[in-house]
Amino acid sequence: MKLIIAKSAGFCFGVKRAMDIAEEAAQKYPKDLYTLGPLIHNPQAVELLVKLGVKVKDRIENIPRGTVIFRSHGVFFKDLVKAKKKKLRIIDATCPIVKRAQFYANYLHRHGYDLLIVGDSEHPEVEAVRSYIQKKVDVVEDVGAAQKLGPWTKLGIIAQTTQTFNRFKEIVAVCLEKTKELRVFNAICHATTLRQMETVEIARKVDCMIVIGGYNSGNTQRLAAICRESQPFTYHIETAEELHPEWLAKREKIGLTAGASTPSWIIKEVEQRIRYLKKSGVK
Ligand code: SF4
Repeated sequence: MKLIIAKSAGFCFGVKRAMDIAEEAAQKYPKDLYTLGPLIHNPQAVELLVKLGVKVKDRIENIPRGTVIFRSHGVFFKDLVKAKKKKLRIIDATCPIVKRAQFYANYLHRHGYDLLIVGDSEHPEVEAVRSYIQKKVDVVEDVGAAQKLGPWTKLGIIAQTTQTFNRFKEIVAVCLEKTKELRVFNAICHATTLRQMETVEIARKVDCMIVIGGYNSGNTQRLAAICRESQPFTYHIETAEELHPEWLAKREKIGLTAGASTPSWIIKEVEQRIRYLKKSGVK
């Protein structure tokens, strides 16, 4: 059995930074420490933080006092205002690349462009970007949705950081035909592009692909979808226990990748379980 593990599997720079910030805060401010929503989209990593004393609250209203950590996807404008009003200590773990996307959105808005975001309208990163713009912001996920919009006089486009470049390009091409002036900022995170490219390469070489990451993680879902285009035997799991032995039967080349919020210890456990199952006779 050959097991190919993606070099890019697991924590990206922004998620690792957010986890480091939270762990450091847990030492510094052991009392009344909260994250607004789960710090990252991985239930097992969030559980680990809870054990360190970092509590999760969905609303600023439910944080009575102390310290609040803003997660890597960024924070809604109204929550920032509320946190300041309540005089909470704020630790901002927003990924600098997400901040850059927020900067582009504000820049376009200030310069009179209508704003279009290529991304998932319900993703917290997109919702956070929108919350700072005092005007309607369109969000599209595919070419079909973009075709229904416009025309515009001045249009600015940015992408959610974890979008695929090809889809972004296609949507930009559609909008170009419907506007007099177009400004495009490619806010796609390089780490995401590299991870997706490496994953496709592996998926084409193997006869089964395992994708590890939170079911609530958009970038993991996208990785699994990309894999399925090249490898129909693609399975998305959160933990090693979810691995079904029959998935590996008759598979001699197995690929392994993981989303940006998947901790390395979970990847290791899955790797060990695959090796164990193959050794113990799953044919
Ligand atoms: S995927 Fe990219 S943008 Fe998102 S948190 Fe990680 S480094 Fe930041």
